[in-house]
Amino acid sequence: MKNHTSIKHCKQCGEKVSYKIPSDGDTKLRAICNVCQSIHYENPLNVVGTLPIWRDQVLLCRRNIEPRFGMWTLPAGFMELGETLSQGAARETVEEAGAQFEMQELFSIMNVVRVGQVHFFFRARLTSDAFDPGHETMEARLFSEQDIPWDEIAFRTVKQTLQCYFADMKSKNFALHQVDIE
Ligand SMILES: [Zn+2]
Repeated sequence: MKNHTSIKHCKQCGEKVSYKIPSDGDTKLRAICNVCQSIHYENPLNVVGTLPIWRDQVLLCRRNIEPRFGMWTLPAGFMELGETLSQGAARETVEEAGAQFEMQELFSIMNVVRVGQVHFFFRARLTSDAFDPGHETMEARLFSEQDIPWDEIAFRTVKQTLQCYFADMKSKNFALHQVDIE
């Protein structure tokens, strides 16, 4: 399990830091500046994205960037300051797929504790089947369930979200899915 990355220098004064447990009752190792004593806390990052649907098909994007270059993913990326979860998910869908859509409900929450991330996917209803992907995507296209390239899906959270979606499609019951990815 990842508790911290490797901060080397203080963000306040630029001097070296050491990993120590602060003396304020904290129980975790923190990067503490050797000079000004600033404590640099590290917390999980949110990844936000959509599950864009056109009739019985799902939109996937083929990655034009590392990691997982050439593999397929749902449009998603790191949440930015100043936006809500759904605003971030919508922004990534525009940037990566150039899709036109209406945002719907939050569909999946994936805890990826090992890498310190939480992934959130919203369902989105596509209002056009024409796409204009940005530089991070080499191809954006629609897939029916039987055509999903399961062995070429870039991330476990994406694969799990797609599996939940097709299972819900069969039961016609859409729930919020909370999954812990090992
Ligand atoms: Zn410092």
